[in-house]
Amino acid sequence: MSSFQTLVEEVHQNDRCHMCGGCVTFCTAINYGALEIGEDGLPRYKDQNSCLECGICYMLCPEVEELDVEINSLANWEEPAGKIISSSILRARDRQVLDRATDGGAVTAILLHLMESGRIDGAVVSRNKGLFNREPMLARTSEQILECCGSYFDVSHGTYHYGTQYSTYSPSVQALGDVKTQGFRSIAFVGTPCQVRTLRKMQALGVVPADAIYCVLGLFCTGNFEFDDNSRKRLEKTGEFSWKDVQKINVTDKVYIYMQDGSIHALPLDELDFIKRRACNYCHDYSAELADLSFGGVGSDDGWTTVLTRSPLGMEILRYAERNSLERLGMQDPDTQDQRSALDAEIQDLKSRMQHLQYRRLENPETTAHGYQEMLERLKYLQKQKQKLQPAKQRPEQHALNSCLEVVLEKCRQKKGQIPQSRSRTAPATVA
Ligand SMILES: Cc1cc2nc3c(=O)[nH]c(=O)nc-3n(C[C@H](O)[C@H](O)[C@H](O)COP(=O)(O)OP(=O)(O)OC[C@H]3O[C@@H](n4cnc5c(N)ncnc54)[C@H](O)[C@@H]3O)c2cc1C
Ligand code: SF4
Ligand code: SF4
Ligand code: SF4
Repeated sequence: MSSFQTLVEEVHQNDRCHMCGGCVTFCTAINYGALEIGEDGLPRYKDQNSCLECGICYMLCPEVEELDVEINSLANWEEPAGKIISSSILRARDRQVLDRATDGGAVTAILLHLMESGRIDGAVVSRNKGLFNREPMLARTSEQILECCGSYFDVSHGTYHYGTQYSTYSPSVQALGDVKTQGFRSIAFVGTPCQVRTLRKMQALGVVPADAIYCVLGLFCTGNFEFDDNSRKRLEKTGEFSWKDVQKINVTDKVYIYMQDGSIHALPLDELDFIKRRACNYCHDYSAELADLSFGGVGSDDGWTTVLTRSPLGMEILRYAERNSLERLGMQDPDTQDQRSALDAEIQDLKSRMQHLQYRRLENPETTAHGYQEMLERLKYLQKQKQKLQPAKQRPEQHALNSCLEVVLEKCRQKKGQIPQSRSRTAPATVA
Protein backbone atom coordinates (compact mmCIF):
# COMPACT_ATOMS: atom_id res chain seq x y z
CA MET A 1 0.00 0.00 0.00
CA SER A 2 1.30 3.47 -0.92
CA SER A 3 1.68 6.11 1.76
CA PHE A 4 3.04 9.61 2.13
CA GLN A 5 6.53 8.12 1.97
CA THR A 6 5.73 6.94 -1.58
CA LEU A 7 4.68 10.50 -2.46
CA VAL A 8 7.97 11.82 -1.17
CA GLU A 9 9.88 9.38 -3.35
CA GLU A 10 7.78 9.71 -6.52
CA VAL A 11 6.72 13.34 -6.43
CA HIS A 12 8.85 15.47 -4.10
CA GLN A 13 12.17 13.97 -5.02
CA ASN A 14 11.35 14.53 -8.70
CA ASP A 15 10.49 18.22 -8.13
CA ARG A 16 6.90 17.58 -9.15
CA CYS A 17 5.12 18.74 -6.00
CA HIS A 18 3.32 22.00 -6.78
CA MET A 19 2.28 22.56 -3.19
CA CYS A 20 -1.49 22.19 -3.54
CA GLY A 21 -1.49 20.93 0.05
CA GLY A 22 -4.15 18.31 -0.74
CA CYS A 23 -2.19 15.48 0.87
CA VAL A 24 -2.06 17.37 4.18
CA THR A 25 -5.55 18.87 4.09
CA PHE A 26 -7.30 15.56 3.39
CA CYS A 27 -4.96 13.25 5.35
CA THR A 28 -6.96 10.66 7.27
CA ALA A 29 -4.77 11.22 10.32
CA ILE A 30 -4.63 15.01 10.14
CA ASN A 31 -6.22 15.31 13.59
CA TYR A 32 -3.47 13.09 14.97
CA GLY A 33 -0.81 15.34 13.45
CA ALA A 34 0.61 12.95 10.85
CA LEU A 35 1.42 15.64 8.25
CA GLU A 36 1.98 19.39 8.09
CA ILE A 37 2.91 22.09 5.59
CA GLY A 38 6.53 23.13 6.07
CA GLU A 39 7.79 26.69 6.01
CA ASP A 40 8.87 26.17 2.38
CA GLY A 41 5.22 25.39 1.47
CA LEU A 42 5.94 21.69 0.92
CA PRO A 43 4.10 18.97 2.82
CA ARG A 44 6.09 16.82 5.25
CA TYR A 45 5.67 14.35 8.07
CA LYS A 46 5.01 15.96 11.42
CA ASP A 47 4.69 12.66 13.23
CA GLN A 48 5.29 9.66 11.01
CA ASN A 49 4.12 7.29 13.76
CA SER A 50 0.60 8.71 13.47
CA CYS A 51 0.37 7.78 9.79
CA LEU A 52 -2.22 5.03 9.23
CA GLU A 53 -0.68 4.11 5.87
CA CYS A 54 -4.13 4.35 4.28
CA GLY A 55 -2.76 5.69 0.99
CA ILE A 56 -5.34 8.49 0.64
CA CYS A 57 -2.69 11.20 0.31
CA TYR A 58 -1.04 9.26 -2.50
CA MET A 59 -4.27 8.60 -4.38
CA LEU A 60 -5.41 12.21 -4.37
CA CYS A 61 -2.13 13.77 -5.40
CA PRO A 62 -2.63 15.28 -8.89
CA GLU A 63 0.92 14.31 -9.78
CA VAL A 64 0.32 10.57 -9.67
CA GLU A 65 -1.76 8.70 -12.20
CA GLU A 66 -3.84 6.78 -9.69
CA LEU A 67 -7.57 7.64 -10.10
CA ASP A 68 -6.94 9.40 -13.45
CA VAL A 69 -9.24 6.92 -15.19
CA GLU A 70 -12.03 7.55 -12.68
CA ILE A 71 -11.87 11.35 -12.71
CA ASN A 72 -11.56 11.52 -16.50
CA SER A 73 -14.53 9.26 -16.84
CA LEU A 74 -16.61 11.35 -14.43
CA ALA A 75 -15.75 14.46 -16.47
CA ASN A 76 -16.36 12.75 -19.84
CA TRP A 77 -12.79 13.72 -20.73
CA GLU A 78 -11.90 13.68 -24.43
CA GLU A 79 -8.99 14.71 -26.65
CA PRO A 80 -7.40 17.21 -27.03
CA ALA A 81 -8.27 19.28 -23.96
CA GLY A 82 -11.11 17.66 -22.06
CA LYS A 83 -14.85 17.88 -22.63
CA ILE A 84 -15.91 21.19 -24.15
CA ILE A 85 -19.67 21.49 -24.52
CA SER A 86 -19.47 25.09 -25.70
CA SER A 87 -17.27 28.17 -25.62
CA SER A 88 -18.36 31.74 -24.91
CA ILE A 89 -16.91 35.21 -24.61
CA LEU A 90 -18.47 36.93 -21.61
CA ARG A 91 -18.11 39.82 -19.22
CA ALA A 92 -19.77 41.02 -16.04
CA ARG A 93 -22.58 43.53 -16.35
CA ASP A 94 -21.79 45.09 -13.00
CA ARG A 95 -19.35 48.00 -13.37
CA GLN A 96 -17.95 47.37 -9.89
CA VAL A 97 -16.90 43.88 -10.95
CA LEU A 98 -15.65 44.94 -14.37
CA ASP A 99 -13.45 47.66 -12.86
CA ARG A 100 -11.63 45.21 -10.59
CA ALA A 101 -11.62 42.12 -12.77
CA THR A 102 -8.61 40.43 -14.30
CA ASP A 103 -10.35 40.07 -17.64
CA GLY A 104 -14.13 40.32 -18.07
CA GLY A 105 -15.03 39.50 -14.46
CA ALA A 106 -17.04 36.44 -15.52
CA VAL A 107 -15.74 34.38 -12.57
CA THR A 108 -16.77 36.96 -9.99
CA ALA A 109 -20.11 37.67 -11.68
CA ILE A 110 -20.95 33.94 -11.55
CA LEU A 111 -19.87 33.62 -7.91
CA LEU A 112 -21.95 36.63 -6.92
CA HIS A 113 -24.94 35.26 -8.78
CA LEU A 114 -24.59 31.84 -7.09
CA MET A 115 -24.26 33.50 -3.70
CA GLU A 116 -27.18 35.85 -4.15
CA SER A 117 -29.46 33.11 -5.48
CA GLY A 118 -28.64 30.95 -2.44
CA ARG A 119 -27.02 28.12 -4.41
CA ILE A 120 -23.79 28.50 -2.49
CA ASP A 121 -23.07 29.79 1.00
CA GLY A 122 -19.36 30.30 0.40
CA ALA A 123 -16.52 30.25 -2.13
CA VAL A 124 -12.84 29.44 -2.06
CA VAL A 125 -11.16 32.41 -3.75
CA SER A 126 -7.81 34.15 -3.39
CA ARG A 127 -6.78 37.60 -2.25
CA ASN A 128 -3.67 39.76 -2.45
CA LYS A 129 -1.27 39.43 0.41
CA GLY A 130 1.46 42.01 0.47
CA LEU A 131 3.18 43.07 -2.67
CA PHE A 132 3.19 40.01 -4.92
CA ASN A 133 1.84 37.15 -2.85
CA ARG A 134 -1.68 35.76 -2.78
CA GLU A 135 -3.45 33.72 -0.15
CA PRO A 136 -6.62 31.59 -0.22
CA MET A 137 -9.81 32.86 1.30
CA LEU A 138 -12.99 31.02 2.22
CA ALA A 139 -15.41 33.84 1.41
CA ARG A 140 -18.73 33.91 3.22
CA THR A 141 -20.22 37.11 1.75
CA SER A 142 -20.61 38.81 -1.61
CA GLU A 143 -18.38 41.63 -0.33
CA GLN A 144 -15.56 39.18 0.31
CA ILE A 145 -15.98 37.64 -3.15
CA LEU A 146 -15.74 41.11 -4.66
CA GLU A 147 -12.66 41.89 -2.58
CA CYS A 148 -10.93 38.86 -4.14
CA CYS A 149 -11.93 39.74 -7.71
CA GLY A 150 -8.95 39.89 -10.09
CA SER A 151 -5.92 37.66 -10.31
CA TYR A 152 -3.40 40.42 -10.82
CA PHE A 153 -0.95 41.68 -8.30
CA ASP A 154 -1.94 45.17 -7.38
CA VAL A 155 1.15 47.08 -6.40
CA SER A 156 -0.38 50.54 -6.54
CA HIS A 157 -1.13 50.96 -2.84
CA GLY A 158 1.78 49.38 -1.02
CA THR A 159 4.81 51.08 0.34
CA TYR A 160 7.68 49.75 -1.69
CA HIS A 161 8.98 47.50 0.99
CA TYR A 162 10.36 44.40 -0.66
CA GLY A 163 10.90 41.20 1.21
CA THR A 164 13.13 38.52 -0.24
CA GLN A 165 10.78 35.71 -1.27
CA TYR A 166 7.67 35.97 -3.40
CA SER A 167 5.26 33.43 -4.81
CA THR A 168 2.25 34.07 -7.02
CA TYR A 169 0.78 30.69 -6.06
CA SER A 170 -2.30 30.64 -3.85
CA PRO A 171 -2.59 27.28 -2.05
CA SER A 172 -6.38 27.41 -2.30
CA VAL A 173 -6.99 23.68 -1.71
CA GLN A 174 -5.87 24.19 1.89
CA ALA A 175 -8.85 26.48 2.53
CA LEU A 176 -11.09 23.41 2.09
CA GLY A 177 -9.86 22.15 5.45
CA ASP A 178 -12.12 24.75 7.14
CA VAL A 179 -15.29 24.11 5.13
CA LYS A 180 -16.95 21.73 7.60
CA THR A 181 -15.59 23.26 10.81
CA GLN A 182 -16.95 26.64 9.73
CA GLY A 183 -20.36 25.19 8.89
CA PHE A 184 -20.43 25.68 5.10
CA ARG A 185 -22.83 23.41 3.24
CA SER A 186 -22.43 24.37 -0.40
CA ILE A 187 -19.38 26.08 -1.81
CA ALA A 188 -17.81 27.01 -5.14
CA PHE A 189 -14.11 26.45 -5.64
CA VAL A 190 -11.94 28.67 -7.88
CA GLY A 191 -8.47 27.39 -8.71
CA THR A 192 -5.75 26.47 -11.14
CA PRO A 193 -5.94 23.25 -13.21
CA CYS A 194 -3.66 21.34 -10.81
CA GLN A 195 -5.87 22.30 -7.86
CA VAL A 196 -8.99 21.28 -9.76
CA ARG A 197 -7.36 17.87 -10.31
CA THR A 198 -6.71 17.42 -6.56
CA LEU A 199 -10.29 18.36 -5.86
CA ARG A 200 -11.74 15.92 -8.38
CA LYS A 201 -9.70 13.10 -6.84
CA MET A 202 -10.85 14.09 -3.37
CA GLN A 203 -14.45 14.00 -4.64
CA ALA A 204 -13.90 10.63 -6.34
CA LEU A 205 -12.70 9.25 -3.00
CA GLY A 206 -15.63 10.84 -1.16
CA VAL A 207 -13.29 12.46 1.37
CA VAL A 208 -14.74 15.24 3.58
CA PRO A 209 -15.79 17.90 2.46
CA ALA A 210 -16.58 16.37 -0.97
CA ASP A 211 -20.33 16.64 -0.38
CA ALA A 212 -20.06 20.39 0.22
CA ILE A 213 -18.51 21.19 -3.19
CA TYR A 214 -21.23 22.65 -5.40
CA CYS A 215 -19.13 23.57 -8.42
CA VAL A 216 -15.55 23.90 -9.59
CA LEU A 217 -14.44 26.95 -11.58
CA GLY A 218 -11.01 26.46 -13.19
CA LEU A 219 -8.59 29.14 -14.39
CA PHE A 220 -6.39 28.67 -17.47
CA CYS A 221 -2.80 28.49 -16.33
CA THR A 222 0.63 28.71 -17.94
CA GLY A 223 2.44 28.63 -14.63
CA ASN A 224 3.03 30.24 -11.28
CA PHE A 225 6.15 32.11 -10.35
CA GLU A 226 8.40 32.27 -7.36
CA PHE A 227 11.31 34.62 -7.04
CA ASP A 228 13.68 36.35 -4.70
CA ASP A 229 15.10 39.86 -4.77
CA ASN A 230 17.80 39.00 -7.29
CA SER A 231 15.35 37.58 -9.81
CA ARG A 232 13.05 40.54 -9.17
CA LYS A 233 15.87 42.85 -10.24
CA ARG A 234 16.63 40.65 -13.27
CA LEU A 235 12.97 40.91 -14.26
CA GLU A 236 13.15 44.69 -14.04
CA LYS A 237 16.14 44.64 -16.37
CA THR A 238 14.60 42.20 -18.86
CA GLY A 239 11.34 44.14 -19.04
CA GLU A 240 13.04 47.58 -18.97
CA PHE A 241 10.78 48.96 -16.24
CA SER A 242 11.06 49.97 -12.62
CA TRP A 243 8.94 48.29 -9.93
CA LYS A 244 8.21 51.58 -8.26
CA ASP A 245 6.28 52.71 -11.38
CA VAL A 246 4.22 49.52 -11.71
CA GLN A 247 0.48 49.62 -11.09
CA LYS A 248 -0.51 46.00 -11.67
CA ILE A 249 0.60 42.76 -13.31
CA ASN A 250 -1.50 40.25 -15.20
CA VAL A 251 -0.63 36.90 -16.78
CA THR A 252 -2.45 35.69 -19.88
CA ASP A 253 -0.70 34.90 -23.20
CA LYS A 254 2.15 37.14 -21.95
CA VAL A 255 2.95 38.84 -18.68
CA TYR A 256 1.47 42.31 -18.92
CA ILE A 257 2.99 44.95 -16.65
CA TYR A 258 0.72 47.97 -16.36
CA MET A 259 2.62 51.14 -15.50
CA GLN A 260 1.23 54.04 -13.53
CA ASP A 261 1.61 56.34 -16.56
CA GLY A 262 -0.79 54.12 -18.53
CA SER A 263 1.85 52.33 -20.64
CA ILE A 264 1.96 48.53 -20.75
CA HIS A 265 5.05 46.29 -20.97
CA ALA A 266 4.43 42.82 -22.41
CA LEU A 267 6.96 40.10 -21.58
CA PRO A 268 6.85 36.80 -23.47
CA LEU A 269 6.26 33.98 -21.01
CA ASP A 270 9.40 32.07 -22.04
CA GLU A 271 11.50 35.01 -20.84
CA LEU A 272 10.18 34.26 -17.37
CA ASP A 273 11.24 30.64 -17.30
CA PHE A 274 13.91 31.48 -14.74
CA ILE A 275 11.24 32.29 -12.14
CA LYS A 276 8.65 29.67 -13.11
CA ARG A 277 8.04 27.10 -10.36
CA ARG A 278 9.85 23.92 -11.30
CA ALA A 279 6.75 21.74 -10.88
CA CYS A 280 4.91 23.89 -13.47
CA ASN A 281 7.32 22.70 -16.19
CA TYR A 282 5.85 19.19 -15.93
CA CYS A 283 2.21 20.28 -15.98
CA HIS A 284 0.12 19.27 -18.99
CA ASP A 285 -3.20 20.94 -18.14
CA TYR A 286 -3.62 24.50 -19.47
CA SER A 287 -7.38 24.91 -19.49
CA ALA A 288 -8.59 23.22 -16.26
CA GLU A 289 -9.86 20.21 -18.19
CA LEU A 290 -11.83 18.75 -15.28
CA ALA A 291 -13.66 21.88 -14.12
CA ASP A 292 -17.38 22.59 -14.59
CA LEU A 293 -16.46 25.89 -16.25
CA SER A 294 -12.99 27.10 -17.30
CA PHE A 295 -11.95 30.76 -17.63
CA GLY A 296 -9.09 32.62 -19.27
CA GLY A 297 -8.08 35.79 -21.03
CA VAL A 298 -6.56 34.29 -24.19
CA GLY A 299 -8.65 34.29 -27.31
CA SER A 300 -10.82 37.25 -26.23
CA ASP A 301 -10.42 40.99 -26.61
CA ASP A 302 -9.20 42.95 -23.61
CA GLY A 303 -11.90 43.23 -20.94
CA TRP A 304 -13.64 39.95 -21.84
CA THR A 305 -13.31 36.43 -20.45
CA THR A 306 -13.09 33.26 -22.54
CA VAL A 307 -15.35 30.65 -20.92
CA LEU A 308 -15.47 26.92 -21.66
CA THR A 309 -18.52 25.01 -20.51
CA ARG A 310 -17.57 21.45 -19.64
CA SER A 311 -20.39 19.83 -17.65
CA PRO A 312 -24.21 19.90 -17.47
CA LEU A 313 -23.87 21.71 -14.13
CA GLY A 314 -21.61 24.30 -15.81
CA MET A 315 -24.26 24.78 -18.53
CA GLU A 316 -26.98 25.35 -16.00
CA ILE A 317 -24.92 27.78 -13.96
CA LEU A 318 -24.07 29.81 -17.04
CA ARG A 319 -27.65 29.87 -18.30
CA TYR A 320 -28.97 31.35 -15.07
CA ALA A 321 -26.01 33.69 -14.47
CA GLU A 322 -26.37 35.09 -17.97
CA ARG A 323 -29.91 36.21 -17.28
CA ASN A 324 -28.76 38.33 -14.36
CA SER A 325 -25.13 39.20 -14.34
CA LEU A 326 -23.32 38.38 -17.56
CA GLU A 327 -23.12 39.95 -20.97
CA ARG A 328 -22.32 37.82 -24.00
CA LEU A 329 -20.16 39.08 -26.87
CA GLY A 330 -22.34 40.61 -29.53
CA MET A 331 -25.29 41.21 -27.18
CA GLN A 332 -24.85 44.71 -25.82
CA ASP A 333 -27.31 45.37 -23.05
CA PRO A 334 -28.98 48.74 -22.48
CA ASP A 335 -27.23 49.17 -19.10
CA THR A 336 -23.84 49.14 -20.81
CA GLN A 337 -24.99 51.77 -23.29
CA ASP A 338 -26.19 53.96 -20.41
CA GLN A 339 -22.84 53.55 -18.66
CA ARG A 340 -21.00 54.54 -21.83
CA SER A 341 -23.15 57.65 -22.24
CA ALA A 342 -22.52 58.65 -18.61
CA LEU A 343 -18.78 58.20 -19.07
CA ASP A 344 -18.83 60.23 -22.30
CA ALA A 345 -20.60 63.08 -20.55
CA GLU A 346 -18.09 63.18 -17.68
CA ILE A 347 -15.12 62.97 -20.05
CA GLN A 348 -16.44 65.91 -22.11
CA ASP A 349 -17.02 67.96 -18.97
CA LEU A 350 -13.50 67.26 -17.67
CA LYS A 351 -11.90 68.07 -21.00
CA SER A 352 -13.61 71.45 -21.22
CA ARG A 353 -12.66 72.29 -17.60
CA MET A 354 -9.04 71.38 -18.33
CA GLN A 355 -9.08 73.42 -21.53
CA HIS A 356 -10.45 76.36 -19.60
CA LEU A 357 -7.58 76.11 -17.08
CA GLN A 358 -5.03 76.01 -19.91
CA TYR A 359 -6.50 79.13 -21.59
CA ARG A 360 -6.33 80.96 -18.29
CA ARG A 361 -2.67 80.03 -17.95
CA LEU A 362 -1.93 81.15 -21.52
CA GLU A 363 -3.56 84.49 -20.84
CA ASN A 364 -1.85 84.87 -17.49
CA PRO A 365 1.14 82.56 -16.84
CA GLU A 366 1.08 83.56 -13.16
CA THR A 367 -2.21 81.69 -12.69
CA THR A 368 -1.78 78.38 -10.86
CA ALA A 369 -3.30 75.35 -12.58
CA HIS A 370 -4.77 74.19 -9.32
CA GLY A 371 -6.41 70.75 -9.61
CA TYR A 372 -5.15 70.16 -13.17
CA GLN A 373 -3.14 67.05 -12.25
CA GLU A 374 -6.11 65.47 -10.44
CA MET A 375 -8.32 66.16 -13.46
CA LEU A 376 -5.75 64.53 -15.72
CA GLU A 377 -5.64 61.42 -13.54
CA ARG A 378 -9.44 61.24 -13.49
CA LEU A 379 -9.55 61.66 -17.27
CA LYS A 380 -7.11 58.77 -17.76
CA TYR A 381 -9.16 56.61 -15.41
CA LEU A 382 -12.43 57.39 -17.20
CA GLN A 383 -10.91 56.74 -20.62
CA LYS A 384 -9.68 53.36 -19.43
CA GLN A 385 -13.14 52.49 -18.10
CA LYS A 386 -14.66 53.53 -21.39
CA GLN A 387 -12.24 51.29 -23.24
CA LYS A 388 -13.46 48.38 -21.15
CA LEU A 389 -17.02 49.18 -22.19
CA GLN A 390 -16.25 49.52 -25.91
CA PRO A 391 -18.18 47.09 -28.04
CA ALA A 392 -15.86 44.24 -29.05
CA LYS A 393 -14.31 44.58 -32.49
CA GLN A 394 -16.96 44.26 -35.12
CA ARG A 395 -16.59 40.60 -35.99
CA PRO A 396 -19.39 38.16 -36.51
CA GLU A 397 -19.87 36.44 -33.14
CA GLN A 398 -19.45 32.90 -34.46
CA HIS A 399 -16.19 33.80 -36.18
CA ALA A 400 -14.87 35.37 -32.96
CA LEU A 401 -15.84 32.25 -31.01
CA ASN A 402 -14.23 29.86 -33.47
CA SER A 403 -10.95 31.74 -33.50
CA CYS A 404 -11.07 32.10 -29.71
CA LEU A 405 -11.46 28.34 -29.23
CA GLU A 406 -8.66 27.68 -31.73
CA VAL A 407 -6.31 29.96 -29.74
CA VAL A 408 -7.17 28.14 -26.51
CA LEU A 409 -6.68 24.70 -28.05
CA GLU A 410 -3.34 25.76 -29.50
CA LYS A 411 -2.25 26.89 -26.00
CA CYS A 412 -3.32 23.49 -24.62
CA ARG A 413 -1.33 21.65 -27.29
CA GLN A 414 1.71 23.87 -26.69
CA LYS A 415 1.66 23.19 -22.95
CA LYS A 416 1.39 19.44 -23.42
CA GLY A 417 4.21 19.57 -26.00
CA GLN A 418 6.56 21.47 -23.71
CA ILE A 419 6.84 18.79 -21.03
CA PRO A 420 10.29 17.17 -21.17
CA GLN A 421 9.84 13.69 -22.72
CA SER A 422 11.46 11.98 -19.75
CA ARG A 423 8.85 13.56 -17.44
CA SER A 424 5.85 13.31 -19.75
CA ARG A 425 2.79 11.61 -18.35
CA THR A 426 0.91 9.17 -20.53
CA ALA A 427 -2.15 10.71 -22.18
CA PRO A 428 -4.92 10.80 -19.61
CA ALA A 429 -6.86 7.59 -19.87
CA THR A 430 -10.60 7.39 -20.30
CA VAL A 431 -13.07 4.66 -19.67
CA ALA A 432 -14.52 3.35 -22.93
C1 LIG B 1 -1.57 31.81 -11.73
C2 LIG B 1 -2.51 32.13 -12.85
C3 LIG B 1 -2.07 31.97 -14.17
C4 LIG B 1 -2.95 32.24 -15.22
N1 LIG B 1 -2.52 32.06 -16.50
C5 LIG B 1 -3.35 32.32 -17.51
C6 LIG B 1 -2.92 32.13 -18.85
O1 LIG B 1 -1.79 31.73 -19.10
N2 LIG B 1 -3.80 32.40 -19.84
C7 LIG B 1 -5.07 32.86 -19.60
O2 LIG B 1 -5.82 33.10 -20.54
N3 LIG B 1 -5.52 33.02 -18.35
C8 LIG B 1 -4.69 32.76 -17.31
N4 LIG B 1 -5.13 32.91 -16.03
C9 LIG B 1 -6.57 33.24 -15.80
C10 LIG B 1 -6.84 34.72 -15.90
O3 LIG B 1 -5.83 35.44 -15.25
C11 LIG B 1 -8.19 35.08 -15.23
O4 LIG B 1 -8.21 34.58 -13.90
C12 LIG B 1 -9.38 34.50 -15.97
O5 LIG B 1 -9.38 34.95 -17.29
C13 LIG B 1 -10.70 34.92 -15.32
O6 LIG B 1 -10.85 36.29 -15.46
P1 LIG B 1 -12.11 37.03 -14.84
O7 LIG B 1 -11.93 38.50 -15.06
O8 LIG B 1 -13.35 36.38 -15.35
O9 LIG B 1 -11.92 36.65 -13.30
P2 LIG B 1 -12.18 37.56 -12.01
O10 LIG B 1 -13.62 37.92 -11.96
O11 LIG B 1 -11.15 38.62 -11.95
O12 LIG B 1 -11.92 36.48 -10.87
C14 LIG B 1 -10.69 35.81 -10.74
C15 LIG B 1 -10.86 34.80 -9.61
O13 LIG B 1 -9.67 34.04 -9.48
C16 LIG B 1 -9.23 34.02 -8.13
N5 LIG B 1 -7.78 33.96 -8.12
C17 LIG B 1 -6.94 34.96 -8.38
N6 LIG B 1 -5.66 34.54 -8.31
C18 LIG B 1 -5.71 33.25 -8.01
C19 LIG B 1 -4.72 32.26 -7.78
N7 LIG B 1 -3.41 32.54 -7.85
N8 LIG B 1 -5.12 31.00 -7.48
C20 LIG B 1 -6.44 30.70 -7.38
N9 LIG B 1 -7.43 31.61 -7.59
C21 LIG B 1 -7.06 32.86 -7.89
C22 LIG B 1 -9.76 35.33 -7.55
O14 LIG B 1 -9.90 35.26 -6.17
C23 LIG B 1 -11.10 35.46 -8.28
O15 LIG B 1 -12.11 34.75 -7.60
C24 LIG B 1 -4.28 32.69 -14.95
C25 LIG B 1 -4.70 32.85 -13.63
C26 LIG B 1 -3.84 32.57 -12.59
C27 LIG B 1 -4.32 32.74 -11.16
S1 SF4 C 1 -2.62 8.63 7.29
FE1 SF4 C 1 -3.06 8.13 5.18
S2 SF4 C 1 -3.39 10.13 4.26
FE2 SF4 C 1 -2.30 10.50 6.18
S3 SF4 C 1 -0.12 10.50 5.70
FE3 SF4 C 1 -0.65 8.45 6.27
S4 SF4 C 1 -1.09 7.44 4.31
FE4 SF4 C 1 -1.22 9.61 3.97
S1 SF4 D 1 -0.96 16.37 -3.07
FE1 SF4 D 1 -0.23 18.40 -3.68
S2 SF4 D 1 1.09 19.06 -1.98
FE2 SF4 D 1 0.82 16.86 -1.79
S3 SF4 D 1 2.55 15.96 -2.86
FE3 SF4 D 1 0.89 16.07 -4.32
S4 SF4 D 1 1.19 18.05 -5.37
FE4 SF4 D 1 2.41 18.09 -3.48
S1 SF4 E 1 1.20 25.36 -14.46
FE1 SF4 E 1 0.14 23.53 -13.74
S2 SF4 E 1 1.20 23.00 -11.83
FE2 SF4 E 1 1.72 25.13 -12.30
S3 SF4 E 1 0.20 26.32 -11.17
FE3 SF4 E 1 -0.54 26.07 -13.27
S4 SF4 E 1 -1.87 24.26 -13.18
FE4 SF4 E 1 -0.59 24.24 -11.33
